[in-house]
Amino acid sequence: MVSRVIPVQAFDLVIFGGTGDLAQRKILPALFRRHCAGQLPDSARILGAARADLGSGGYRELVRDALQRELADSELAKHRIELDAFLTRLDYLPIDAMDAAGWQALAMTLGPPTSDRVRVFYFSVGPSLFAPLAEQIWAHDLADDQTRIVVEKPFGHDLASAKALNCTLASHFDENQIYRIDHYLGKETVQNLMAIRFGNMLFEPLWNSQYVDHIQITVAESLGVSGRESYYDKSGAMRDMMQNHLMQLLCLIAMEPPAKFDPDAVRDEKLKVIRALETVEPHHIVRGQYVLTEGETAGDDNSYRETVGDPRSTTESYVALKAHISNWRWAGTPFYLRTGKRLVARSSVINVFFKDAPHSIFGADAGRHANLLTIRLQPNEGITLKVTIKEPGPGGMRLIDVPLDMSFAQALGADIDDAPDAYERLITDVIRGNQTLFMRGDEVEAAWGWTDPIIAGWTSRGDVPKPYDSGSTGPGDADLLMRRDQREWRGINP
Ligand code: NAP
Repeated sequence: MVSRVIPVQAFDLVIFGGTGDLAQRKILPALFRRHCAGQLPDSARILGAARADLGSGGYRELVRDALQRELADSELAKHRIELDAFLTRLDYLPIDAMDAAGWQALAMTLGPPTSDRVRVFYFSVGPSLFAPLAEQIWAHDLADDQTRIVVEKPFGHDLASAKALNCTLASHFDENQIYRIDHYLGKETVQNLMAIRFGNMLFEPLWNSQYVDHIQITVAESLGVSGRESYYDKSGAMRDMMQNHLMQLLCLIAMEPPAKFDPDAVRDEKLKVIRALETVEPHHIVRGQYVLTEGETAGDDNSYRETVGDPRSTTESYVALKAHISNWRWAGTPFYLRTGKRLVARSSVINVFFKDAPHSIFGADAGRHANLLTIRLQPNEGITLKVTIKEPGPGGMRLIDVPLDMSFAQALGADIDDAPDAYERLITDVIRGNQTLFMRGDEVEAAWGWTDPIIAGWTSRGDVPKPYDSGSTGPGDADLLMRRDQREWRGINP
């Protein structure tokens, strides 16, 4: 199987925040890989912009260092020649989003927008600069109706701020020019979710409350908040992960089949899911905050409160909840969602638990056996379906569960290694003008509309997160949440 690489059309990409962490770790390595894959036309230009007083030469060295840090030695060795060619695509301009300086030079460098080059402005800066950047681009006449902007997360802090930002962006750009990025949507398996559901006859007839007992979505991280403490302490797991990444996964799992794989058709269906979410009862949510495991000494792995430098912080680094979707397909099937930092392993998994067979012809001794579909997003992307078979050998009909395992790495071999990562795919989608994997303004607002009352409830009740040990699976109350429903979480495995 050989993947086809279709070059994108000529473009100018301006990365505001081109010297920042995200640009160095994700955006520029993604662009370099697409360059190596032959997907960027010769005339494509990439322009870094930030306040630092760098020249293009200094920026190229900064990017060279970043690529050497971020890419494996073997990958760099394989693409040594391409590295120099890639760096010559790069330029840099010192620009302050909050000041007029630098904007005239940007206008001169870019020239007037033309129909034969796509123009993209990537907002890889702190969220307080998203609106000022949109204003500056407009004030300096840098965009036409083909220009696209990419807006990083977080998109708002609550419904009011998301609405205000949507409103500012909408006063200068049409919705089809705004790409709100959630890199989870760029993952290969996330798209495979749609392929599995809507490309096969097998699952869709069973994909409802009649056959599905419950669904678990877990996004577990083994790292803490170190390096992002000031942002994170104002945000917490609910805003940082649940409102966007887990919500998007929930939408893709639960949505109705769109009429076609088209950006608005897909996003219309996702929006219906969010709007059908019931308000979550306070006793169906558990918040946690990591503490040092007994015997562990403070160091890089401090407790949450030590890391953020606030001994009284009540920000959650973990949240688990039970959600219900009020529609015909899902009435009665709970969705359990959990995410947290400093957990036992880094693992993003969706588990679809099917119901038991209504009657066992093998008698009570055969035990209970239910099918389980596991969709692993990271690491080791792949899909496993647990099915029940007869245990081999004599001695009657004993049943066991075995996995039908499709590791993408095994099934697709080298092709999966060459598959673009999330940022590669999403950036090329922006250049192609495909918004399917980007959040629409109304989706983001609906997600905040569901999240806000939960957070407001914590504030009004003076809720304090439950402590959980670093390296554990989260607070005990999260297990209780499941046990009350006679269920349990699947283990968090790397
Ligand atoms: P960062 O490391 O702090 O970088 C911020 C960038 O913005 C720097 O290049 C900085 O350079 C520039 N900048 C700051 N103030 C500016 C101004 N007034 N005008 C022009 N440029 C300015 O932040 P980051 O981690 O890269 O994050 C960038 C955005 O991506 C944030 O919205 C963040 O939430 C989002 N994000 C980041 C990650 C991640 O893994 N890092 C993941 C998901 C989303 P100067 O100081 O020289 O101006």
